[in-house]
Amino acid sequence: MKTQYAELPADQCLVQPGEAQFPSKNLADYAKVAGEEKIAELVKLGEELKGVKVQQVNSARLGGGVAEMLHSVLPLENLLGLNASWEVITGSMEFFTYTKTIHNFLQGKIGVPDLVGTKIYWDTNKDNFKLINQDADLVLIHDPQPAGLIAFLDSVVRKRQKWLWRCHIQLSPRDLVITEFLRSLIESYDAAIFSSPKFLPAWRIATVLILPYIDPLSEKNRDLTESEIRAVLDKYGIANLDKKPLITLVSRFDPFKGHNLALEAFKRVRKNIPCQLLLIGGTACDDPENLIIFEQLGAKARKIPDVHLLNLPPDSHLEINAFQRASAIILQPSIKEGFGLTVSEGMWKEKPVIGGNTGGIPAQIVDGYNGFLITPGQDGVAEMAERITYLLEHPAAAREMGKRGKETVKERFLITRGIYDELLLFKNILFPEN
Ligand code: UDP
Repeated sequence: MKTQYAELPADQCLVQPGEAQFPSKNLADYAKVAGEEKIAELVKLGEELKGVKVQQVNSARLGGGVAEMLHSVLPLENLLGLNASWEVITGSMEFFTYTKTIHNFLQGKIGVPDLVGTKIYWDTNKDNFKLINQDADLVLIHDPQPAGLIAFLDSVVRKRQKWLWRCHIQLSPRDLVITEFLRSLIESYDAAIFSSPKFLPAWRIATVLILPYIDPLSEKNRDLTESEIRAVLDKYGIANLDKKPLITLVSRFDPFKGHNLALEAFKRVRKNIPCQLLLIGGTACDDPENLIIFEQLGAKARKIPDVHLLNLPPDSHLEINAFQRASAIILQPSIKEGFGLTVSEGMWKEKPVIGGNTGGIPAQIVDGYNGFLITPGQDGVAEMAERITYLLEHPAAAREMGKRGKETVKERFLITRGIYDELLLFKNILFPEN
């Protein structure tokens, strides 16, 4: 077993890097992937929103699906004529520990939440309010961490500025205190965006469904040459793929992502078929649980041969792209999942993906067609082992599934569709009369 750390600089987690770095891409490149017609529609919509000031706010410049999408969506919005900006709130470890508690309870954790951080939540949101551009036409807040910013808005500004909240987690709370806290906060927004029709809460607010998306031109998803892939595999000492095919799970080290389930299923499969398991994770600035879970996983994985456990820096996009492309199967056995960009990322690379039948995953995987859905949690371990075995023993069927997966992503989960949905919402919110 190989456990590899790539340490982060000490300040990377709590002090956010200043300006985001965007790769330059142009609309013609997107047209080659998504089709001229789709881009023409987008350009038209962009013209209607020309100069509109949109500010997006989240809690991590790197790490996790929200940052992944924002890195791609910001340059595209600007390319389409909007005046788009992105700010990242900062906070102490106590703040992010508290917001991770909120996150876990909103996803259905059972127990009594520790609410001691409530004051830190409000103090941190107050401190970060200076990030809000008072001249913005529309402010889009992601997830619960910065949701409290709206409370500090001047009533005159509030009258002319629209505020949207986007939820990227699987809202399935059992805890009333935290649910009520969020409900009362979110009901002060103009609309809330969700990633699955299953999470739409019965709150007094307009709700909108927008499925997340991947960027086919990003470092995470662009085509790679064989030598680029080989260089990454060599760097991390992952070899012998023809004799021991690679099964990969890419996820933050988080209790809902199913790393332990993947390990258990792998142990069963490996008894009969040579293969290797790669668990890649990383730390996200706003997720203090990552390192603890990584350590726990390391203790287990160390005892199982042919398991590689990698803790990579959050900007390891090329590496993850290469590992996904080198894999025979992608796993995402989540117990709860807002959407699961890693599913679409795997499908885009023509890989069969085995995912937990929960949250946003069934919106992407049609069971038996472009991948497999398994029961989320412990009950799904045997199913996961069976599906892995089937795919390893039937490579032609696996290839076919992978091809269908890419088609699914092309039709439904590319950024060109996602940004269209978002701009349409901005237009409806800002100019309801048109
Ligand atoms: N990711 C990454 N490094 C990691 C783990 C995840 O770059 O170590 C990326 C992954 O490729 C995907 C995103 O982070 O683009 C995770 O998004 P997803 O929706 O799957 O889960 P989230 O972390 O937002 O819950």
